[in-house]
This record gives sequence, structure tokens and C-alpha cells, in this order.
Amino acid sequence: MPVLLQALSDPLLTQKGVELSVLREDLLHPGIPGNKWRKLKYNLQAAREQGCEMLVTFGGAFSNHIAAVAAAGKAFGFATVGYIRGEETLPLNPTLQQASACGMYLRYLSRTEYRLRNEARFQAEILKTAPKPYLLPEGGTNLLAVKGCTEVVTELTEPWDVLCVAAGTGGTLAGMVVGAGGNGKVIGFPALKGGEFLQAEVTDLVQTFAGQAYPNWELQTNYAFGGYAKHTPALLTFMQQFHQHHGILLDPVYTGKMLYGVFDLVRQDYFAVGTKIIAVHTGGQQGWAGYAQRYGLAWPTADIIQ
Ligand SMILES: *Cc1c(COP(=O)(O)O)cnc(C)c1O
Repeated sequence: MPVLLQALSDPLLTQKGVELSVLREDLLHPGIPGNKWRKLKYNLQAAREQGCEMLVTFGGAFSNHIAAVAAAGKAFGFATVGYIRGEETLPLNPTLQQASACGMYLRYLSRTEYRLRNEARFQAEILKTAPKPYLLPEGGTNLLAVKGCTEVVTELTEPWDVLCVAAGTGGTLAGMVVGAGGNGKVIGFPALKGGEFLQAEVTDLVQTFAGQAYPNWELQTNYAFGGYAKHTPALLTFMQQFHQHHGILLDPVYTGKMLYGVFDLVRQDYFAVGTKIIAVHTGGQQGWAGYAQRYGLAWPTADIIQ
């Protein structure tokens, strides 16, 4: 089924003569929205083919990846274990409550232990006790995830000039660069402070997966709003107005920052008249409940988050 492409109507876009649509990847799969479904798809196939019965992964306490793996395990019949960074906090936040309700077994790692998560010896140790485990890295980025994310682009049926996407590990961006195959331009918006490090990471992933480099992509690193999972009043106001005008709920960690950046670049005449831009809504709304709680936000209200 093709993903919904929602054209935005906005005075700024009209004034600047550019077209902007939102690719509603957030509606792809209930419980496993957006890029998390794209990144898991071929990994779930591989897990099944290898006869694995259990998905094991890592994440922070508000992680969309943890939520998605838990939901995928429930939907596709895998046991799931989530190694969470930091100490257990009770009651569980909405993300972990939901993951636990999907049957995910939650384990907690101190920050020191968590730093070892990618080391072979550490992984061997934690996998010793798991029957037939399939290991997914934090954030879910590996080459099969990149493969899944190429399809964000190859499944597009409408013409486009520029694709915009939020970046955490850069796996989704890398897949989209490969999917674009040298056509148009792909812009990644890092959600972390110091997102320049993604230049090398994405270059590496693209080179490893495709066996070649592509020049037609870039990072816009000015839209991290103070760092990962941080925000400013201006960002929240933008997201609230975006929801009011377009009926689309963005998330505060990734897509809100990306779309703020896209509008800011439009305002600065970054895009030539006539440019067709597609911004990818990668999902992430599951994190809102915990985020709003943590920062004591009055918006969005519970009925909007649902
Ligand atoms: C995980 C996530 C991202 C980041 O994806 P990467 O492949 O790690 O760059 C972007 N947007 C949303 C909503 C996410 O949940």
C-alpha cells in the first residue's frame, strides 16, 4: 500500500513558490510506525530465517526503537528483551509501560555498562542466557535497516526534488540516500547536538551498503534545539501551530525539529522557486506522553496524543 503523501497549504510556501508535502510514514504500521518499521522489516525476516526466537536490543527509557521492537515482537511472535540505559524508575514511564505490556522483558544497565553495549565480549555475556537471540543495535541501525529505508524512496510515485528527514543514528538517512540513487537531493536534520559526526557515519553506511558514495546529500546541523530530546518554546509553538494548520502531530525529538528546519530554510530562500520538497514523517508520537509528563507541558493534551 502506498504511503500517504499529504500536500501542505501555507502562505509562506505560496509566497516562496515551493511545494512541500509530508510523507506520512508515521501511519505505516500501528505500534511500529515510521522508520522503525522500515528498519525492522528485513531484520525480522532475517531473525525468522535464522530460527531466532528472541529479539534483544538496547535503548533509552523513552526510546521509539524500544517501543517498536516490543510491538514487533508481539505482532510477529518473538520474545523481546530490552536493555535500558540507567536505573529502573517506578512507576514505569509510558514508553516502558507499553513495551512491558507487549511482553518485553526489561533489564537495566548502568551508564558504564551501557557504554560497553557494542563490544563483542559484553554481547556474548548477555546473550548467554537468551535462547536463540537476534541482536539489534541501539536505534536499530544495521545494513538490513539501511536496506529497508531505501524503500522510503523507491516506493515514492510522485516527482520530487528534495527529501528531508530527521536523523538520530543516520541509518534512515543513509537508506534514503541509497534509495535516491544519485537523483535529487536528500537533507538530514540531526536531532543531536554536534550532528556533524553523522557526515562520516552516513558516508560509511552508504559506502558499505551500496559499494559507492553519493554526493547529493547534506546535513543541516542548526536545528538540534540544544541537544537530544531538548526543546525551546519556539519549537513547541511551531509544533502546536503546525498541528493546528495541517492536522499533523509531529514529535518533539525528531520530526518537529526537522520541519522547523525545513520552514526556516524556505524562509531563507534556500530552495529555488518551483522546488518540490517531501518531508518524511518518521513517527515518534509514542514518546509524547512521557515527554509532556517530564517537562510538565500543557500541550499536546491526552486526546491529541492518542
Ligand atoms: C528513530 C527515529 C529517527 C532517527 O532515525 P535514525 O535512522 O536513527 O537516524 C527519526 N525520527 C523518528 C521519529 C525516530 O523514532
